[in-house]
Amino acid sequence: MGLEAQLKSDGFITSTIDAVIAWSRKNSVWPMPMGISCCAIEMMAVADPKYDIARFGSEVMRFTPRQCDLMIVAGTVTYKMSHVVRKIYDQMPDPKWVIAMGACTSTGGIYRTYSVVQGIDQFLPVDIYLAGCPPRPDNLLHALIQIQKKIGKTKARDFQNKPLPELPVIQNN
Ligand code: SF4
Repeated sequence: MGLEAQLKSDGFITSTIDAVIAWSRKNSVWPMPMGISCCAIEMMAVADPKYDIARFGSEVMRFTPRQCDLMIVAGTVTYKMSHVVRKIYDQMPDPKWVIAMGACTSTGGIYRTYSVVQGIDQFLPVDIYLAGCPPRPDNLLHALIQIQKKIGKTKARDFQNKPLPELPVIQNN
């Protein structure tokens, strides 16, 4: 059977490399669970049977940054800790995304104090800010869906080259 006849009998679809790669990327986002304080408990809950993050292809939480493409920062980040978080982020391969989970991570929250970074966007390029103290697990799933939508619009060779903010100065008191 010739190719034309075989295509007619089996059927075929057309797509682009960009669309196929974006589709596979967005359905296999592997999170780096950067759980620092209480918000991390809600982050862990997304993996339980009730919320079941596996439905979105993101159940593979990795504890090595080299296998992750989404950093979920959950908790209060101090200036000293910010250098650790940034170091882990720098070790993740491109392209990569960041969710700031909760009030503390996004703005410092209730901690208006010398030791706490008033928002991780001072040292990381944040894609999604998640409100709440703490946000519910379903809010985190919603943020993941928004990240997936963003990824769906990327092209295969998009390496984001986001300008990175300077690391905050550690304050010695
Ligand atoms: S936002 Fe609330 S729950 Fe989350 S780390 Fe801050 S104090 Fe804890």
